[in-house]
Amino acid sequence: MAHWISVVVAAPAHSSVAGALTYRSASALPPGTLVRVPLGAREVLGVVWQTLDSSGDLPEAQARGIAGTLEGVAPLSATWRGLIGFTSAYYQRSLGEVALAALPPQLRDMTAVQLARRLKRPVQDTSGMQPASHLIALSPEQSKAIAEFDADNRPALLFGATGSGKTEVYLRAAAAVLARDPGAQVLVMVPEINLTPQLQARFEARFNHLGKERVVALHSGLTPAQRLKSWLAAHAGHARLVLGTRMAVLASMPCLRLIVVDEEHDPSYKQQEGARYSARDLAVLRAKLETEGAAPGTGVCRVMLGSATPSLESWQSTLTGRYQRLTMNARINGSPTLPTSGGSLLPNGARVVAVATGGLPTVRGIDMNHQPRHCIIAPPLLEAIAERIARGEQSMIFLNRRGYAPVLACHDCDWKSECPHCSAYRVFHKIDRTLRCHHCGFTERVPRACPSCGNIDIAPVGRGTERLEEHLAELLADIRRPDGGQVRIARIDADTTRLKGALESQLASVHAGDVDVLVGTQMIAKGHDFRHITLVAAINPDGALFSSDFRAPERLFSLLMQAAGRAGRDARQAAASEMWVQTFYPAHRLFACLKRHDYPAFAEQQLLERQAAGLAPFGYSALVRAEAKTQEVAQGFLNAASAQAQAAGLPAHEQITAYPAVPMMIQRIANIERAQMLVESASRVALQTFLSQWQAILFETRRQAEFKSLVRWAIDVDPIAI
Ligand code: ADP
Ligand code: ZN
Ligand code: ZN
Repeated sequence: MAHWISVVVAAPAHSSVAGALTYRSASALPPGTLVRVPLGAREVLGVVWQTLDSSGDLPEAQARGIAGTLEGVAPLSATWRGLIGFTSAYYQRSLGEVALAALPPQLRDMTAVQLARRLKRPVQDTSGMQPASHLIALSPEQSKAIAEFDADNRPALLFGATGSGKTEVYLRAAAAVLARDPGAQVLVMVPEINLTPQLQARFEARFNHLGKERVVALHSGLTPAQRLKSWLAAHAGHARLVLGTRMAVLASMPCLRLIVVDEEHDPSYKQQEGARYSARDLAVLRAKLETEGAAPGTGVCRVMLGSATPSLESWQSTLTGRYQRLTMNARINGSPTLPTSGGSLLPNGARVVAVATGGLPTVRGIDMNHQPRHCIIAPPLLEAIAERIARGEQSMIFLNRRGYAPVLACHDCDWKSECPHCSAYRVFHKIDRTLRCHHCGFTERVPRACPSCGNIDIAPVGRGTERLEEHLAELLADIRRPDGGQVRIARIDADTTRLKGALESQLASVHAGDVDVLVGTQMIAKGHDFRHITLVAAINPDGALFSSDFRAPERLFSLLMQAAGRAGRDARQAAASEMWVQTFYPAHRLFACLKRHDYPAFAEQQLLERQAAGLAPFGYSALVRAEAKTQEVAQGFLNAASAQAQAAGLPAHEQITAYPAVPMMIQRIANIERAQMLVESASRVALQTFLSQWQAILFETRRQAEFKSLVRWAIDVDPIAI
């Protein structure tokens, strides 16, 4: 007798097979089984989603039989399927797309025979073998954080200053879970694993007593074969600890008991294509699902988010008590901790300003209004850098713009190096004398003369890291190191680290002390445990103060706090370490909070503003983006779909505000016009209800003659940039 099953296959939301398809199978297959099924003329990987009582309306002849199952791979768990189901519904994408994207790509392409061969390779089980690693004594704050975490079961936010030893807390929490239950698994997520090779080594060293290959990595930097191997190890329960980037949140881990999200505020946790999920938000949800789905007596699944500058969403959750807050104010480097406030008001209205700055660098703002005109590095900052060099210490200069200059311009006729395909300027890269578009990649040699008037005197305007490096070399040419040698300047950004291994070797030379001044983009500001940097400077952070995106100040504050966190990580130098900020707006509140390393005060003020405006985390939003050959079509599509939603009187539509379509910030990329429409609601449920109904209308609208095959659209739920 044939069994009827519904199978999900990879299909974008826009295709006709977005849901599950019905197939026949000779044997009963439990949900979660991996199968290969015919789809059109191809054979593809699918996941059995449900067993059906009958084929329903489908005539028997039309349901095709499955091609086979992937022997040796256990079915995906009900909890995993629940997570995929939620992700698909919440982020408004098809089940098949989300489910298949969560599986390693190589699994999709492999035949059953190839997979069987792969699975045959034995994994050595050396568990029980012990090189028990030597543990460091915890700081009082670390011990307290761990004790509090153990005594609670809410999602936890570890609010720990940069250098307060958050990683050690993650390691201890993971070790406790793994020791308690020999089958338990732990997932540790980091924003960009390529930036933190140190971390993987630390986890491997700590847990290598568990046996070979018990710690695996899961991120896009792996080869397809490595990724499959890691995934299979996690799915089989052999891997006890998975260290990964955002994609790892959807990995199959049958006995997951702890999820750690390091630097939980980091924007890279938000997927920016396909299902635009937030891996941080899914981590919290997954912990809940894993707890509910756990076999009796196997305990709960906890989640620990960590940051020195938490997202305002997570921070607000600690204020309402939904999350537990664990606080570590002082740096490990041993400096005394000052009294802490949390930005609270005294009864007489006076604010307690003393915040923990134990061991954190002194923040110096430079008022650029009082510096020589057009100066790039203010004289006092230059002097401070020179002093560090003379003392053999390192400085880090940070500018969030790569290339030599953001624009090349002719002062005679006002020609600028616009990209012909985008609404953006092409960036001048001096090293190979090219103009490169950072959006579409269009690259040309720099013209000898102005293409518009023939003037040969075309000049760079503004400054990127490449030009800053050159400028610093000139400014510091006469400064000598303690050994009499010349200053060694290095630059780390996306341009200098294109080649595989380049980043690692550049970081290694910084760690080895072969660099005196490090210039770079935000790449160097995050996460690295540099030991010899005593001065960090932000050259030009003002842009974000006046952005139209309400999250820009939050991002700037956390970036500057992160950057400050790179200075003085060594106890011997902590006291004299400094963070310099050049600004034309020294009185801005953001800088006042930065000076005191006072995240709580910054958060308090931001949350008040957002509450008044009904913005996240007090309101919920989604963006619908559309792309077309003209703005008119892109905007017309969004406005038409919105008008139809109004006319149809969708459920919950009275709780929704849909704004008119507008061009996106970068309106045109690679000759494609981009528009967006913001949809807001004070209720998350109302927004969800509305979006799921509106999707059908969007599909419908796209079928209209004037938009047919001319528009691409996608919904971004909880967008992080507007
Ligand atoms: P964070 O992630 O909070 O910025 P890290 O976890 O990188 O901080 O820790 C900062 C430094 O302190 C690291 O070099 C780490 O090895 C060290 N460290 C952490 N905990 C301790 C401890 N209990 N005793 C001594 N050193 C520690
Ligand atoms: Zn010209
Ligand atoms: Zn371009």
